[in-house]
Amino acid sequence: MRKVMLITGASRGIGAATARLAAAQGYALCLNYRQHRQTAEALAKQIVDAGGQAIAVQADVADEAQVLRLFASLEQHFGRLDVLVNNAGILEQQMPLEQMDLGRWQRVFGVNVFGSFLCAREAIKRMSTRHGGRGGAIVNLSSVAARLGAPGEYIDYAAAKGAIDSLTLGLAKEVAAEGIRVNAVRPGVIDTEIHASGGEPARVARVSRSVPMGRGGLAEEVAQAILWLASEQASYTSGALLDVSGGR
Ligand code: NDP
Repeated sequence: MRKVMLITGASRGIGAATARLAAAQGYALCLNYRQHRQTAEALAKQIVDAGGQAIAVQADVADEAQVLRLFASLEQHFGRLDVLVNNAGILEQQMPLEQMDLGRWQRVFGVNVFGSFLCAREAIKRMSTRHGGRGGAIVNLSSVAARLGAPGEYIDYAAAKGAIDSLTLGLAKEVAAEGIRVNAVRPGVIDTEIHASGGEPARVARVSRSVPMGRGGLAEEVAQAILWLASEQASYTSGALLDVSGGR
């Protein structure tokens, strides 16, 4: 029987790259997306056509009722969950903190932090050996912004990723004896469309100059780290914050 992985925000970027690699490794996949239905469904079809198993499920992870619906669909279709990848994330237009309004912080924390909390809670209910589950793994997407702070760009986003680090550290300890490992990947600057939402589509080229390796990363390089943390090869790793940042 295939292991089942739920990836939030799997319609593009790091989530989609993780889905492709996970499918190649034999996982059955639940691909969550918010807006890009066509690309999410096309990816699921590609995986199925290649002999794998995948469904695409729409849900805004910041909305509790929609997260409950997402997990109900997952359960109905696959009947089990082995890995949750809390990948869905957003950032907004670059600006100094003094120009930010409260709504922006609420949106950014809503998706990045509250969404990860809601999905982690629902995953634990299904994976915990205390609830009759088989155990499993949770991989959260943090960012090097959690330790760099993103001044002048998006301190709100950096603070949200700082919260993801703390969530990872606490939850790893809380559920370690229930067969669940919890880890985070902290990507550096990775070539995806997220930078366009900050108003600087070419941000990767600019920031690359301050990366010791002299280049931005690829979504596939982050996916490799996520898949390792999810796998049995990482059986004694929990509470780790793994930087995938070209040395930055
Ligand atoms: P992208 O902007 O390329 O993709 C974001 C994905 O998240 C999309 O699939 C999008 O779905 C989905 N999404 C956004 N909001 C929601 C929501 N409310 N509910 C469900 N899905 C949602 O981002 P990346 O691939 O670059 O980023 C993935 C993760 O990695 C994020 O958590 C990000 O913060 C983190 N990260 C990225 C870095 C980078 O440089 N790229 C660096 C450090 C961390 P749809 O398109 O359907 O709306």
